Amino acid sequence: MTLQYILFDLDNTLYSPRYGLELNVDRRIAQFLVAYLGLSLEEALRQRRERIQHYGTTLEWLMVEKGYTDIEAYYTAIHPAGEADILSPVPGLREFLESLPLPRGILTNSPKEHADRILTKLGIGDLFTHIFDIRWNGFKGKPHAEAFHRALNTVGTIPETTLFIDDTPRCVSGYCALGGPGLLLDEENAYPAYPHPRIRDLRELTGFLR
Ligand SMILES: [Mg+2]
Repeated sequence: MTLQYILFDLDNTLYSPRYGLELNVDRRIAQFLVAYLGLSLEEALRQRRERIQHYGTTLEWLMVEKGYTDIEAYYTAIHPAGEADILSPVPGLREFLESLPLPRGILTNSPKEHADRILTKLGIGDLFTHIFDIRWNGFKGKPHAEAFHRALNTVGTIPETTLFIDDTPRCVSGYCALGGPGLLLDEENAYPAYPHPRIRDLRELTGFLR
């Protein structure tokens, strides 16, 4: 089937993990867990590692299993206003996205305010038809099948006609399980044995447009 749309992850996909931006988010999540759960850092991260595989996000885990309810306080803590200051425009990124022959969207497990800060910093926010964030998905994000289906239904495509790119293996695997072409962006070569198509640089996605 002919491709009609390209769906991008945001963090560590439209900008490199080398900026350390998502590492900082992870650090703030860890601090939040220690404070909320009243556990040592080690134990909090161990529990998260063990349970996160059943959920799209840490917040979803906290809400389902730990009785957490204050969504806005969580996002304020892990996404402070200056979080994107560490980022700078990626040379050639805007031109590359503009050169793609298909319309584009973003599906992120982060909230809209986070996405907006990043896209503003990168200067590419106007290049996407839709930005699907975690609130829009009712806090049930990737790799839940509903998250993908809701986005594609809105765009008017199906998995078979939509290329999806993400740096998180389980998100790409979740998408491939729906029958869509998924691409793992593995800039740091962390998953050499990944069973689905894998690219090392975002620009290599053009090889999959046909
Ligand atoms: Mg990502």
